[in-house]
Parts: sequence; C-alpha cells; structure tokens
Amino acid sequence: TDSDTADEAVRSTCDDASICKRFATSKGYWNDPYIQNFVRQTGERKAPEINRGYYARVHGVNHLLDAFLEKTHCDCQVVSLGAGLDTTFWRLKGENTLPKKYFEVDFPMIVARKVHHIKTKPQLSKPLMETHSADSLLLDGHNLDSDRYCIISADLRDLPSLEEKLRKFHINTKLPTLFVSECVLVYMTPEQSSKLVHWVSHTFHTAMFINYEQVNMADRFGQIMIENLQRRQCNLAGVVVCQSLDSQKERFLSTGWESVNALDMMAVYSLLPQEDISRIERLEFLDEKELLQQLLQHYSICWAVKDTLNLGISEIGF
Ligand code: SAM
Repeated sequence: TDSDTADEAVRSTCDDASICKRFATSKGYWNDPYIQNFVRQTGERKAPEINRGYYARVHGVNHLLDAFLEKTHCDCQVVSLGAGLDTTFWRLKGENTLPKKYFEVDFPMIVARKVHHIKTKPQLSKPLMETHSADSLLLDGHNLDSDRYCIISADLRDLPSLEEKLRKFHINTKLPTLFVSECVLVYMTPEQSSKLVHWVSHTFHTAMFINYEQVNMADRFGQIMIENLQRRQCNLAGVVVCQSLDSQKERFLSTGWESVNALDMMAVYSLLPQEDISRIERLEFLDEKELLQQLLQHYSICWAVKDTLNLGISEIGF
C-alpha cells in the first residue's frame, strides 16, 4: 500500500543520517569510534556545509543531553525515539555517564538490523556486557533488554503499544527522564506527535524533551527541502509543525510542558565556542557562507521541560 511505501521510505532515512555522520567523523568533525560498525564505508563525499550542519546537530543534541545527565547526576533515564543506528549509548558508556537505563525505540526492521550488528561486533557487544550483571540478557531479534540498555520495536504512532512495551522493559515513571527525537516527528501527523509529547508530560513528573528537526519550511529553500524528501516518497505528515520556531514551541506549550525553548541551528552554530568554530572551519574550505547559513536556518532544536522535582533542568540551554 501507499502507507507501507511511505513507512519504508521513512525507515531508510536512518541510513542517510548514519552515512552523513560517518562521513563527517571521517573528516574529523567529531569523534565516533562506534559508527563504523553500522556504516562500513565512508561513502561518497558530502559537501562541507552538510558536514558542518551535522556537527551543529550532534553538538546541539549532545550538549543538552549531557547537561541533563549532569543535573540529574545520571540518576535518570534516557529514551531515544526513532533512534535508528545512533551510537550515543556507547559514547556515554565510554564517558562513564550512563543513565540508570538507556532506551531506544524504532520500527522492528531497524531494530532487527541494529541488534544483529550488536550481536556480531565485539566493539559493540563488549561495552554492553560490561554494564550487564545477570546472565538474563534478552535478545529476540525484535527487542534487546539488558540492565542499562534496551532497544524496543514499536511504532511511535501507536501510543498504547509503546507504553506497554516501555513498561514491560521496566521504565520507571518516577525517575527524571529525557526524551530525544532527532528528525523523527516530521514523519507523523501533528496530532500523533502532540499525543506523544502529551503522553510524556502526563506520565513523567520530571522530564525533558529534545526535538531536532526542520523549521522555516514555508520559504523557497524550505520548499526545495520538502520536494527532495517527497521525491523519495517520504510521508511528511508533520511538516506543518515545521513552519516556525513558534509552531515548534506550541506543540509543547499546548500539551502540559512548563517551559519550552527553541533555536534555529544558525543560532546554535553561532553560540559554539570560538575554538570549536575555528577548528571545524579549518577542516574543509568553504567560500560560500550563504548556503551554510540558509541550511542551518532550516533546522531547529527545541527543548521542553517539566521539573516537578526542582532539579534545575529548566536552566539547561546554550
Ligand atoms: N535519530 C536518528 C539519528 O538522528 O541519527 C535516526 C534519524 S532517521 C532520520 C528517522 C528514524 O525515525 C528512522 O530510524 C525511522 O525508522 C524512525 N521512525 C520514524 N517514524 C517512526 C515511527 N512512527 N515509529 C518508530 N520509528 C520511527
């Protein structure tokens, strides 16, 4: 059916993200020794503005995530929605900043691929086993469950089943919990993503939600971005929420969150420490700054907070 085709196209976006991240790390933008296990080849060259855009994206998300872990002293949970082949679990393990439990959710087909990589690559399985005490590791092809890391197959548009699976794998709604979605909500209708963020704010008393995705889609450049995704038959049901920073914030303000912030990625890029900017701008020559600016103005990071325990997580920012 058309909707199967659209879901299949959406699933394939996780390879794009990992291929671009793999390429940028091969150029030295940031360090990720684990991604090579998911994307073997460095692949074809990506334009410098794409690599800088990915740098800002990864830096932006990591900065907020690390701040949340620090504020909660890692006495918390992280739930990565539409995690794809993301490697954050291994980064945190390496930096000794793992939360109590790190959850990931994606479609069954993506989870099966990820679990297969983990099973067959010692660089991935060894750190996981080091965090696991009992010999009751669950690995059934569609889910992985261990003491500190859990990967769940679920459709984020089906909330009852998502909730049931998170509970089955012992999510603790009393612990401060960070939800992250990176280029995921755009593939759901505004109703579906609103219900999802509403469920989070009404289920966890202390929570933060980080959402990275497209913004300012109404202008000419935005239209071209949409056409490119549509050409691949991706279902962009959520793109109306990507009209402005205000519409991004509104999704959270109308669903029970206490405070919400949003920045476009040009702002995030400008707020990078000067030494980071100098370093990454030396990696590859870019004489046309305008395209980089335009690209970065069309992505945003939005973070919402509900801080019943008064942990100070509403102070988190750039
Ligand atoms: N977050 C990862 C990253 O940034 O590297 C992957 C991003 S990729 C663009 C989008 C991911 O969201 C894909 O892995 C896709 O399968 C997942 N996804 C999209 N809609 C979903 C849904 N309804 N349920 C579960 N996963 C979904």
